[in-house]
Amino acid sequence: MRRLRRCKIVATLGPATAQRSAIGDLFRAGADVFRINMSHASHDDMRERVLAIRSLEQEFGRPIAILLDLQGPKLRVGLFKDGAVELKRGDIFVFDSDPTPGDASRVHLPHPEILEALRPGHNMLVDDGKVRLHITEASPKRAVAVVDVAGRVSNRKGVSLPDTEIPLASMTPKDHADLLAGLEAGVDWVAVSFVQRAEDVVEVKKIVGNRALVLAKIEKPQAITRLEEIMEVSDAFMVARGDLGVEMPLEKVPGLQKRITRIARRLGKPVIVATQMLESMIALPVPTRAEVSDVAAALFEGADAIMLSAESASGRYPIEAVATMNKIAEEVEHDSFYRQILNAQRPAPEATVADAIATAARDVAETLDLKAIVAWTSSGSTAFRISRERPEPPVLALTPNRDTARRLALIWGVHAVVTDDAQDVDDMAARACVIAAAEGFASPGERIIIVAGVPFGSPGATNMVRIAYIEK
Ligand code: PGA
Ligand code: MN
Repeated sequence: MRRLRRCKIVATLGPATAQRSAIGDLFRAGADVFRINMSHASHDDMRERVLAIRSLEQEFGRPIAILLDLQGPKLRVGLFKDGAVELKRGDIFVFDSDPTPGDASRVHLPHPEILEALRPGHNMLVDDGKVRLHITEASPKRAVAVVDVAGRVSNRKGVSLPDTEIPLASMTPKDHADLLAGLEAGVDWVAVSFVQRAEDVVEVKKIVGNRALVLAKIEKPQAITRLEEIMEVSDAFMVARGDLGVEMPLEKVPGLQKRITRIARRLGKPVIVATQMLESMIALPVPTRAEVSDVAAALFEGADAIMLSAESASGRYPIEAVATMNKIAEEVEHDSFYRQILNAQRPAPEATVADAIATAARDVAETLDLKAIVAWTSSGSTAFRISRERPEPPVLALTPNRDTARRLALIWGVHAVVTDDAQDVDDMAARACVIAAAEGFASPGERIIIVAGVPFGSPGATNMVRIAYIEK
């Protein structure tokens, strides 16, 4: 089964798509990667979903990536005597270290480190920014705030602090336990939420080792100020526009999306554009014009993947949402501006053998209208570098390593197939042709280009290209 688009689709699983059959329908409609959001899934839910996906992998004969999304340090207020309070503009309201239920004048903030880090002038956003306050007095036991935007605050609502450097590791004890359980279950990618510093990612990578790849969710202003450092140590990124749009002025998000996607492409690391892409499809079977344009904008930027959250996790039309993304991607990628824009943004190759060969392979393939660029790869890195070129022909990655094939499901333009390592150069060419034909990339009489490293089995040794005919 081959996709007729280069950009990948990430579908978040949830109550609307918990059953194996629903996950299978999402895959058939076009989902390449499934996200399990640990803010909502129990360990049992997570394990059940992983098992279902792995059995579907068998059924479809295609590698599928599983992305474990860690909740991160989501801050929340405590409880209220009456369950909620109504705050009016100009009201004075106190956040303190007292766990007794709150009222119209105060509430518990069950994060002592946060009380210590708050300073006068810092903004405080409650419930995704629906209610806004700013701090006027701060001490380790209580912070006094004035309400700027009125609204209702109820039990355990989320709190965002765009101006406060949160002195918490981005990994909470819950994240740690979720991470270990996810690795045990065999997930392929791990997403770190609310990353503020490069160390937040490094800390997770230390635990993960080579069991998975680690993706940084860019959703805090503190991460924006250290973008290059964070992007240097991460394996991939998510433009997490939900929280980013709460913690930063909304109108800054589109520019940041461009900045992050361009840095990602320069680094040759995958980037997912996420949140509210087809939001109205949570309730309706068709998207709005603006949503279609938003998905198209991410495609024109050359994002590796576009993501569905509630649309596929808890909405009424999860399958339709994936099918809609698929249809938009197929159409946009055939638009003449698509190639033009992708080519105009192509980053220069780095001075490495791998990049020189990736560039050459793309150039030859495009000049001769070859049907696929076939990369023999064990770690996947050759496929990452070829994908960075955003070549016109599809990239067929052949790997003996099942984990590599799964990870590559997130990468722009890459179709991975698990196969034994080649015996010699002739075997490498012959098998590349057979698989390219079998997977629907090339027909007899057509040509492909093959990229590999000889001797086989030594990772990171890409050093040859060869053009081969599919035999009649
Ligand atoms: P979330 O991340 O759905 O886990 O919050 C994505 C976002 O913030 O956009
Ligand atoms: Mn988020």
